[in-house]
Amino acid sequence: MLQEKEVHAAEMERSFIAIKPDGVQRGLIAEIISRFERKGFKLVAIKIVIPTKDFAQKHYHDLKERPFFNGLCDFLSSGPVVAMVWEGEGVIKYGRKLIGATDPQKSEPGTIRGDLAVVVGRNIIHGSDGPETAKDEINLWFKPEELTNYSSNAEKWIYGLN
Ligand code: UDP
Ligand code: MG
Repeated sequence: MLQEKEVHAAEMERSFIAIKPDGVQRGLIAEIISRFERKGFKLVAIKIVIPTKDFAQKHYHDLKERPFFNGLCDFLSSGPVVAMVWEGEGVIKYGRKLIGATDPQKSEPGTIRGDLAVVVGRNIIHGSDGPETAKDEINLWFKPEELTNYSSNAEKWIYGLN
């Protein structure tokens, strides 16, 4: 039988979060990571990569009919991106709350885009928008062996597990 802690670990949700080239160039890597880390989410994978345009098109394939698709893919492949997987209860939905609305003009103050970005085409961060896209995006950006499994000492304090 699984112990409470193991059940907890097995149920843990994961989201794909990326700092786009504008966030990297503006020196916001630590600031963004720190917001997810302080919340209590756990970083289980991270790397810095310059995606090819073809890769960017795969990442944003859902948006291929939109007028901004080409510019968006040019932009994502224009420089280094910090690709990450964050784990935690509700991380997909709450990660989107930490990030804020797509258009920084509409993002609430206190959110990453609200505090740190001004226009929709340079909104510094990407976050998966649901469980299916989270799975697909994690698989696109990371090999299975790049994803770590570990327990952190903070977890029992974050989740109240003893
Ligand atoms: N985007 C844009 N113009 C728009 C809408 C979106 O340049 O009118 C860009 C923006 O960078 C956004 C990305 O396309 O982050 C993906 O769009 P989506 O609707 O998935 O927004 P997100 O999930 O990033 O909030
Ligand atoms: Mg999206």
